[in-house]
Amino acid sequence: MTKITIRCGNCGGDNVMRDAWATWDDASQSWVLGNVFDAAFCNDCEADATLVERPINDQPGAVRCS
Ligand SMILES: [Zn+2]
Repeated sequence: MTKITIRCGNCGGDNVMRDAWATWDDASQSWVLGNVFDAAFCNDCEADATLVERPINDQPGAVRCS
């Protein structure tokens, strides 16, 4: 399985976030991610962003999944 990273389509940075809902889970006693929405924001650009997916390559020492 190829891991991916999500980057800002404008500056290429990874300091990005999505709008989402979290719901409370009694069992784990924590907020768990619910719906994730399309709206995205880049902290580096300090603006709404278009996100791009890229495969993560050339990870030194990364464990390979077979
Ligand atoms: Zn950006």
